[in-house]
Order: sequence, then C-alpha cells, then structure tokens
Amino acid sequence: MRKLYIAGNWKMNKTPSEAASFAKELAEKASDAKVKVMIAPTFVCLPDVVKAVKGTNVIVAAQNVNDHKSGAYTGEVSADMLKDIGVNTVILGHSERRQYYGETDEFINAKVLFALESGMDIVLCVGETLEERESGALEDVLKRQVSVGLSGVSAENMKKITIAYEPVWAIGTGKTATPADAEASHAFIRGVVKDIYGSDVAENTIIQYGGSVKPANVKELMAQPDIDGALVGGASLTLEQFLPIIHCVD
Ligand code: PEP
Repeated sequence: MRKLYIAGNWKMNKTPSEAASFAKELAEKASDAKVKVMIAPTFVCLPDVVKAVKGTNVIVAAQNVNDHKSGAYTGEVSADMLKDIGVNTVILGHSERRQYYGETDEFINAKVLFALESGMDIVLCVGETLEERESGALEDVLKRQVSVGLSGVSAENMKKITIAYEPVWAIGTGKTATPADAEASHAFIRGVVKDIYGSDVAENTIIQYGGSVKPANVKELMAQPDIDGALVGGASLTLEQFLPIIHCVD
C-alpha cells in the first residue's frame, strides 16, 4: 500500500523569515496529517525552515543540487552542504530547470546518481510539453525522461526515488490534466518502471501528480489508482490552500 506524498515546491518565493513562520504554522496544523508532507523552499530559506519544523512530520527538501562533491562550481550547492543542515531530500528535473536552465535528461541523471550516492531522497520530475502531447509524442517523452533519468539507479535505490508527473502545460497555468488523462500517464510511467525494475519496485514507487493542483481538484486526482500524491506549486504558498490539499484524505 503506497502512502500519499504531498509536496510543496515554493520555487523562488518567500524570504527566510516568511518561510520559517509559514513552515512552523504548517507543521503545527499538519501534525495529524495522514499523508507524507514535504516543503521545498529556496536554498537561503533552508536552515531557518529546518529549525522551524524540527521534531515534526514535515520533510524539508531542496529544489536542486549539484552533481559534484565540491569544487569550482560558482553559485552551486552540494549534497554534503544540504545534509549538513539537515536536508536529505531534493527535487530534480523540474520542468523550469529543464526549460530555463537547459537541464537535459543526461545531466539530471548525473545529479540523481550523485544525490543517491550522497544518501539523499529524490523527487524526479518528468512531463511533456503541450507541443509534445499534441504531436503524439507523450509516451516517448515520458519513457525517455524516466529511463534516462533513472539510468544506473539500482532496484534497492528506487526506495529513495519518488517520480512526479508534471505535464508542463498544466504548471502554473490553472489548467489541470483531467483525472483520466493524469491516470493514463501515471499508469504508463509505472509500466516503464516495471519494465526496468519489475513489478515489486513498480508497485512500491510513489508517483506524484503536479500541475495546478488545488483544494478543488485534489480529491478526484488522488482517487486515481496510480496517483500517489501531489507536487504542488502555487497552492503550496498559502495555508488556506495547502492545508486542505494535505488533508484531502481525512
Ligand atoms: C510545480 O511547479 O511543480 C507545479 C506543479 O506548480 P503549480 O502547482 O503552480 O502548477
């Protein structure tokens, strides 16, 4: 039985003091949550947010990590630095990283492998653009992103991987994939994982949905058999919206 995993990607929002007070209140109000809860603030907010949620069930993640241990990589942050401040989870391959910063599947895979070697848990984002969907390339794109992104990852390490299916056209646009369309992509992704790792790993892999998730649509999305949680952007920035999403199965 897969436990629902609800994550908030704050992107480049909230100052450290705003992030810390939000996280404290969130942790108090989500203490009875039946789902696994994660928030991903910016790098500069991480130390304060880790302190704010210490001892609670809220996981704090980074939005990115470098694929080297240390060295001359100006502007970058390493896995060791994150772990040193108590951050053991990272989001990789988000479509904004792919789109604005040119991250390829191969580069994302290098980060996945290095983060795993460093002992981190990963949320690996995949998803097609509208153009790819409309040209009939949906399955090819998902298969490539999943199989290249996971290349070299052992079956054992799949316990540390969550996949987030985020159709790019649904991110921050207010457009959500219909529950049936989202389910079809999730089932396809689970099939790709099964082809690589077999049924046991596929059945235990958490696959989150992301793309304009909000209180009004979360229940129907989470009711789909292959949707195991959500990666939430805009609606994770206010308690009014994020708490009902976290409590969607109460
Ligand atoms: C995201 O950035 O991962 C996301 C899904 O954003 P939003 O919920 O705002 O569409």
